[in-house]
Amino acid sequence: KAAGKGMFWMFSPDLEAGMQHAIRLEAGLKHSLQSGEGLFIFYQPIVDAATQTVSTREALLRWHHPEAGWVSPCEFIPIAERSGLIFQLGAHVLETACRDAAGWEDGARVAVNISPVQLGKGTLLQTVLNALTTSGLAPDRLEIEVTETAIMEGRGSVGDLRQLKAIGVQVALDDFGTGYSTFSALRAFAFDKIKIDGSFVRAAVEHADAAAIVRAICDLGKRLNVVTVAEGVETRAHFDRVLEEGCMEIQGYLFGRPAPAERDLSAIERLNKS
Ligand code: C2E
Ligand code: CA
Ligand code: CA
Ligand code: CA
Repeated sequence: KAAGKGMFWMFSPDLEAGMQHAIRLEAGLKHSLQSGEGLFIFYQPIVDAATQTVSTREALLRWHHPEAGWVSPCEFIPIAERSGLIFQLGAHVLETACRDAAGWEDGARVAVNISPVQLGKGTLLQTVLNALTTSGLAPDRLEIEVTETAIMEGRGSVGDLRQLKAIGVQVALDDFGTGYSTFSALRAFAFDKIKIDGSFVRAAVEHADAAAIVRAICDLGKRLNVVTVAEGVETRAHFDRVLEEGCMEIQGYLFGRPAPAERDLSAIERLNKS
C-alpha cells in the first residue's frame, strides 16, 4: 500500500496465476516448435463469388498443449509475440503452408497471417523466399495477411511489404474496419485485397447502417482496384447480403470451417481422445 495507488496489482494472486500460465504455455510452445508435436495448420476456403470456386485457402494455426489441451491462437500468438517465438513460428507456418499449397491440384492460393512483430525487421523477405524456394510454390500463389496495426507501427513494415509485392506475393489487409486508422493504411500501401471483418458482415443482415458500411467498402475496393473479401459468412442470409453489397470473395462457416490437412487427421483424432 505504501507504494501508492495502482501498485497493489503486482501482488494480485490472479495476475500471478495468469503469468504462470503464460510462462507454461511459452515453454510448451517452444517444445512444440522443436519437436514438431502438437502444432497443426488448418485451412479454410475463400470462395470467388462470381464463379463459386475456391480461390484461396487461409492457413490458421492450431496448437495442442499436453496438459492444457487445445489453445486458441488468440491466446498463444500474443505469447509468441512477446517471447520472440513468433519468428520461428511464423517461418514454420510459411514453410508448411507453401509446401501444402504446392500440392493442391486446384491451384488455389494460400493466405498466411503475419504478425506486426514480424514486420519492419527487414527479415520477412528472406523467410518468404526460403518458403517459396523449398516448396517450389509460385510467388503469386502466396498471399500475406496483415492488419492495419502492422502498417501503422512504423515505416519499416511498409518497406517489407513492398519487397514482397516486388517478388509477386499478394498482400491483403485483414480485419478491415476494426482499427483506428483504416483509411491511412489503405493510403500507405497498395493492397491487393481488403478483408471486411466478420462483425460488419454478420450485422449487415439486420442493420441498414452495417450494410451501408459493407457496400461502401466494396465500392471503395472497386475504385481502388482492390479485391474485397467478406469474412465470417455463416448463413445463406449473410451470403445473399454481402453479394448484394458487392463483395467479390466470401469466407466463413457457410462454405467451410478451418480443417486439417489429410496427413494430420489421425494425430488430431488421437489428441482429441486423450
Ligand atoms: P483472423 O486472421 O481474422 O482469422 C479468421 C478467424 O475467424 C479464424 O479464427 C477463423 O476460424 C474464424 N472464422 C472463420 N469463419 C468464421 C465464421 O463464419 N464465423 C465465425 N464466428 N468465425 C469464423 P481462429 O482460427 O481462431 O484465429 C484467430 C486469429 O488468430 C486469426 O484471426 C489470426 O489473427 C490469428 N492467427 C491464426 N493463425 C495465425 C498464424 O499462423 N499467424 C499469426 N500471426 N496469427 C494467426
Ligand atoms: Ca486472417
Ligand atoms: Ca480477419
Ligand atoms: Ca480477426
